[in-house]
Amino acid sequence: MKELLEFVTSRATSYLKEIQHRRVSPSAEGLRGLDGFSEPLPEHSTPAREVVEILDRLGSPGTMGFAGPRFFGFVMGGALPAALGANWLASAWHQNAGLFISTPVSTVLEEVSLKWLCEALALPRECGVAFVTGATVANFTALAAARRAVLARQGWDVEAQGLFGAPEIQVVVGDEVHPSVIKSLGMLGLGRDRVVRVPVDDQGRMRAARLPRLDHRSIVCIQAGNVNTGSFDPAEAVIGAARDAGAWVHVDGAFGLWAAASPHYRHLAEGFQDADSWATDAHKWLNVPCDSGLAFVRDATQLHGAMSLTAAYLPQGTHREPSQWVPELSRRARGVEIWAALKSLGRAGLADLIERNCRCARRFAAGLSQAGFEILNDVVLNQVLVSFGDAEETRRVIAAVQQDGTCWVGPTVWHGRTAMRISVSSWATTEEDIDKSLAAMIRLARAPLLERHSPGKGDVPAGDSIVER
Ligand SMILES: *Cc1c(COP(=O)(O)O)cnc(C)c1O
Repeated sequence: MKELLEFVTSRATSYLKEIQHRRVSPSAEGLRGLDGFSEPLPEHSTPAREVVEILDRLGSPGTMGFAGPRFFGFVMGGALPAALGANWLASAWHQNAGLFISTPVSTVLEEVSLKWLCEALALPRECGVAFVTGATVANFTALAAARRAVLARQGWDVEAQGLFGAPEIQVVVGDEVHPSVIKSLGMLGLGRDRVVRVPVDDQGRMRAARLPRLDHRSIVCIQAGNVNTGSFDPAEAVIGAARDAGAWVHVDGAFGLWAAASPHYRHLAEGFQDADSWATDAHKWLNVPCDSGLAFVRDATQLHGAMSLTAAYLPQGTHREPSQWVPELSRRARGVEIWAALKSLGRAGLADLIERNCRCARRFAAGLSQAGFEILNDVVLNQVLVSFGDAEETRRVIAAVQQDGTCWVGPTVWHGRTAMRISVSSWATTEEDIDKSLAAMIRLARAPLLERHSPGKGDVPAGDSIVER
C-alpha cells in the first residue's frame, strides 16, 4: 500500500504541475488515448500499481484542466490544497458518513463546519443543514422541506400521503431561474411547467413589482448569483412581500451566496438571510473537490421531517444523525473537506479568495472592453459576458479560444445574444493568468481572415458539442 500511494502521489503531483502549463482542454491525441480504455471485461487481475499507471497514462491527457488556473467555463472552482489533502486522507479512512455510530469523525466535522458555514454565509445559526452532492440536490432537498411546510400549514402530511389529493401549491420563480431548480420541482411532483414565472430586468433580476399574489400556499424561489450575469434578485422586496403573505422563500445561491463571506461584496447578499431555505455549492466557490453541495433550512424540523429515514421527530442525542438530513443513507464524508477548506482559509482567506476572483473578473472585463469588445453584463461579481460581434463571430472566437488551449470558456445566450461567458472561481487563478488569457482572446478575436481559415495550432473539435446552458 505504501509503495502504491507514494506512486499515486508522484503521478498526481506531476499532473498538477503539468496542468499549470498544459493546454486547458485535452488535445486530440489526449482524446484519442481514451480509446485505450475500451476493452472487454478483463479475465484476470491487474496489479494495483499498473492499474493506476494505466489510469494516469491514458486518463490524465483526457482531462479538462479544472485543477489548473485558467479554466473559466461554467462556475467550477478548483480544489484547495488542504481540501485535496483532506479528500485523500478521508478516502484512506473510508468512512460511510450516514450514521454517527459508524463514523463519529465525519459527524463531528459536519457539526463543526455547519456552524462555521452559517457564520461565514450570514445564515441563521439554528438552520438544519444537509451535506449533499451539489446545488441541484441542495435545491431539491431544501424544496422538499418547503413542500412539507407549506402543505403542513394546510393540514396535509406530504411525506405520509404524497401529493395525491393534496391541496395545491403555487410555485413562483424568476424568468432567469437556474434549470436545476426547475428539475428539482419536477422531481418533487410540483411540476416543471406549473410554475409562475416573474419577468426579469436586463441583468436577469426578478422584478419584484411583477410578483403574483402570494399566500401561505406559495413557495417563491429567488436567486443569489445569476449563472450568466452574477446578478442578485431584489431579496428585501421579494422576501418582504412573501413574509406579509406567509409564503416560503427559497434561495438558489449556488455560488452567489458566498458574496456574504466578503466584507467587500457582502452588500450583494444583503437581505437573503431573511429567506426560509438556501441551496449552495461547496465545490464551486469554497474550492473543495467535487461533489459537494449544501442545503440550509431555517426551520430545522422541516428539513429533518422531509429527510429522516423513519419517524419525523428530532432525535434527542448529543450528536446529529447525518443521514436524517439528506436524501441519501450511505454517502461520502463531505464535511471533512469543507472543514479543511474553512480551517485552511479562515475568515480572511475565504474573503480574499472571493475578492481575488472578482478582481480577476473585472480585469477580464476591462481588458476586453479596452480592446473594443462589448461587455453585456454589469460585472458585479465573478461573471463576465462578452460579445465579439454577431452570434457567428462570437461563436468563432469561443471555438478559437477553446482550440488554442491557453484558457477555456464556453458560450451562452443572454437575452437573445450569443456571448462568451467567463467565470472566475478557482483559488489557483492569478492576475497573470488573466493577462495571459486576455492576450490569447484578443489575438484570436483579431486574427486576420486568412489565418482564420488555416488550421489552428490546436487540434480539438471546436465547442459545438458543449451544450449551452
Ligand atoms: C451550478 C449551479 C447550480 C447547479 O449546481 P450543481 O452543483 O451543478 O448541481 C444551480 N444553480 C446555480 C445558480 C448554479 O450556478
